[in-house]
Amino acid sequence: MRGRYKYVILGAGCSGLSLCYYLLDLGVEDPILLLDRRSEFLDDRTWCFWDVEPTPFSHLALKRWYSWSLRADGGSVTQTTRRYPYLRVRSADFYEYAVRSLEAHPNVTLRMGEEVLNHSPVPGGVRVETSGEAYEADLVFDGRGLPPGSPHFEKARKEATWVPQEFLGQRVEAQSPVFDPYRCTLMDFSVDQGRGLRFVYVLPFTRETALVENVYLSEVEAGPEEHRAGIRDYLWDVYGLSGSEYEVRREEKGYIPMTSYEFPRRLGERVYSIGMLGGETRPSTGYTFLRIQRYCRRLAESLAGSPKELPEVSAKTDSRRYDLLDALFLRFMHEYPERCPEIYRQMFAGVPADSLVRFLTEKSSPLDEARLIKALPKTPFIGLAFRAALEKLREAGPPFRPGG
Ligand SMILES: Cc1cc2nc3c(=O)[nH]c(=O)nc-3n(C[C@H](O)[C@H](O)[C@H](O)COP(=O)(O)OP(=O)(O)OC[C@H]3O[C@@H](n4cnc5c(N)ncnc54)[C@H](O)[C@@H]3O)c2cc1C
Repeated sequence: MRGRYKYVILGAGCSGLSLCYYLLDLGVEDPILLLDRRSEFLDDRTWCFWDVEPTPFSHLALKRWYSWSLRADGGSVTQTTRRYPYLRVRSADFYEYAVRSLEAHPNVTLRMGEEVLNHSPVPGGVRVETSGEAYEADLVFDGRGLPPGSPHFEKARKEATWVPQEFLGQRVEAQSPVFDPYRCTLMDFSVDQGRGLRFVYVLPFTRETALVENVYLSEVEAGPEEHRAGIRDYLWDVYGLSGSEYEVRREEKGYIPMTSYEFPRRLGERVYSIGMLGGETRPSTGYTFLRIQRYCRRLAESLAGSPKELPEVSAKTDSRRYDLLDALFLRFMHEYPERCPEIYRQMFAGVPADSLVRFLTEKSSPLDEARLIKALPKTPFIGLAFRAALEKLREAGPPFRPGG
């Protein structure tokens, strides 16, 4: 056995590195081990989120958009904010900054190239076995993500409402200045919907460069070639770029499940889930980054406060209200995918930008939510809300009958 640690963090991705960062920031000096199976950090994803609160990583943003648009049903809506820009952080910059921060602390060991095989309870702790070693810890935090085929991914797919977000993005460089770097396109539904609900997402960095993503919100299992063809067609249709007029500099892809599944926070008596595995993805939007920051910060605060009991902190700010609204949106996407473009357009046209951002980042006031509800068509949302309420009643069991 290679050693005993206070905390072992499985996975040095977004949540693993964030949790470690927050623990160190709070002055934790106990030994911490971070394990990851990959041998190096790659620039494998782009994180975007609205700048509604400070995070230790927001200053890494290479780009901020104050305007965004949505296109559907032949119409386009543009929203502008002065208050909450949409930030873009490259994963390469996040990894570099986080790892450099850890390196300044001798109590942290980061071991790359070690595949975690399993963890099991031992008296007073947890034993973690990897492809090369075994370690013991007081507490383990599992941030190994939620890849397709993993146990909770499959359980959620079978047992809960499930809307996949499957995408491939290309960072492209055009020969001519075709992009508007001041406005990004959050969703363009004016693309072929024949295979399932689909949109294109465009993040223009300069007049010549952009990240263009082809996204399915349906179980399509599109291969990379189908996604690439979708992007190629889009660049031609919208920007007039033929395949020879731009270069693809990098690709990224993902599968983010949007689901009502209740991901367990505890995977063992002394094992906690963090990140996507801990259910940090917002069910109605797929956004995860900000929630990971909130949860990891609160978890670290709780741990640094020497709790007698393991913390059960939640990242949710006002979970009941958001749970209900998220459940309704998710159901709607699941049952009426063909109506989603129209609904999103109404939302973007009818709700002021800042109210919408606050709702999307779980910072909304009741007034913001009233505006959102007003902008939505009453049918079928009332029907869905009624059914959701009935289901809750049924889950609660039969009504109490005196003497029964
Ligand atoms: C391409 C892409 C773009 C995204 N863009 C956004 C965005 O713009 N905004 C947003 O809010 N969210 C976004 N997300 C969703 C989410 O924020 C990210 O997926 C985020 O990285 C999730 O963090 P995590 O810690 O749960 O998992 P990850 O960051 O994926 O980390 C998991 C880590 O565990 C390691 N690992 C896995 N299995 C093992 C094992 N057996 N042993 C050892 N190590 C293991 C992996 O190598 C990895 O380093 C995006 C996701 C992807 C894939």
